[in-house]
Amino acid sequence: MPDPLSITVAGAGIGGLTAALCLSDAGHAVTLVERRTGFSEVGAGLQLSPNASRVLASLGLAAALRRAGSEPPGVVVRSLKSGSRIGGVRLGEAARERYGAPYHVIHRADLQTLLLDAVRSRPGIRLLVGREVTGLAERADGIAITVESAGGGRGETLEADLVIGADGLRSRLRGHLDDRPVAPARMAAWRAIVPRDVVPEALRGGETGLWLGRGRHVVHYPIGNGERVNVVAIVPERQGDDGWGRLGEPAMLRAHFRDATPELAQLLGLPDSWLVWSLADRPTARPMARGRLALLGDAAHPMLPFLAQGAALAVEDAATLAACLAGGDVPKALAAYDAARRPRAKRVQKAARANGRVYHAGGFAALCRNLVMRRLGPDGMRDRYGWLYGWQPDGNGAHGRTRTDTPEGPGF
Ligand SMILES: Cc1cc2nc3c(=O)[nH]c(=O)nc-3n(C[C@H](O)[C@H](O)[C@H](O)COP(=O)(O)OP(=O)(O)OC[C@H]3O[C@@H](n4cnc5c(N)ncnc54)[C@H](O)[C@@H]3O)c2cc1C
Repeated sequence: MPDPLSITVAGAGIGGLTAALCLSDAGHAVTLVERRTGFSEVGAGLQLSPNASRVLASLGLAAALRRAGSEPPGVVVRSLKSGSRIGGVRLGEAARERYGAPYHVIHRADLQTLLLDAVRSRPGIRLLVGREVTGLAERADGIAITVESAGGGRGETLEADLVIGADGLRSRLRGHLDDRPVAPARMAAWRAIVPRDVVPEALRGGETGLWLGRGRHVVHYPIGNGERVNVVAIVPERQGDDGWGRLGEPAMLRAHFRDATPELAQLLGLPDSWLVWSLADRPTARPMARGRLALLGDAAHPMLPFLAQGAALAVEDAATLAACLAGGDVPKALAAYDAARRPRAKRVQKAARANGRVYHAGGFAALCRNLVMRRLGPDGMRDRYGWLYGWQPDGNGAHGRTRTDTPEGPGF
């Protein structure tokens, strides 16, 4: 067993929290630095597919996930204009059987809370909040970051064997490895949560609803023990802005869905307020890790949300990084991490972009999509994701692998 390392993780989002847990459970001493002072997550839901839930289960979080989240029996795909059913994806018990781990939906705040509780229960993790990472200096035998408290004040230097940049889409640390900029995706995600009992009766089931139309789509699913429904509408946007939490005018959203089928229009008319997030894209960092600095999650490979994989890939990164470090030599371990994760992240990014095109198709392309979905049926659609959901950390450590590989199609 190699000596335990001293590791600093910058950013306590889903990726940073999971990395801290994986690394601490592997025996390393972890300092987790977060610039926010509180952990109140904005209201929104998250889908957590088996490739991620299996990692969280290995951290002892399966029961907490079951309590806080739910397992939709499937996805129902419909046309947003006509309301007719296009297809579906079978999940629930069938996803567990096929992939050996559940497909959860959960409120982001609930996931963040259960990860944070686990972090606080590990004596090997030191959590520093209200501190922003502002600089990095690497030497042959170590690495140091500078942190400043959120309200100004004196900076402090933290020495470590390894630094992990889990600092999100606009990562400061990414610039040390790859400075290709963030590009606006010219789309926005409008997100809201409504009580389930006011939702149109036909949409109150446990399934995830996916409504497709030219240039836009809507997803909804129950969260918070089924008492509320998370609604996300993706629409075109000319000019984006940075970050979360811009308030959206409900009438503007309704205007995008004037032609929607009455049930969907009713659902979209329910929220008094929407939070709007401009979507952005950026290539997978090249490299994702070098020397004593590694990136993970959105810092390394932001994902467009058309495959619901951003957080899931951050969780995969965290497990892989911990496995790679089992050998002890940091630069070698990070080279192995880069080799294991970069192709996977690029493949998922590509598939997410393709899914966006398929979801938003119109005319003849939409007809072809609908035909393929009908032909595949709910089990065929689920199995199409075998390469994605079947991922698990390699039993030997370093390289993640896919247990159930299936050819990659044009997306969905
Ligand atoms: C509409 C939408 C729906 C989505 N749905 C899903 C889904 O269903 N399933 C899924 O898997 N993914 C989904 N995602 C993607 C997912 O939300 C992100 O990929 C994921 O949260 C990224 O986690 P992260 O930890 O890498 O980054 P973040 O969550 O951005 O965390 C980064 C953290 O670093 C901190 N930080 C930043 N800079 C510094 C600094 N200099 N010093 C210290 N701290 C710093 C930040 O405050 C933050 O806490 C969705 C995204 C969108 C837009």
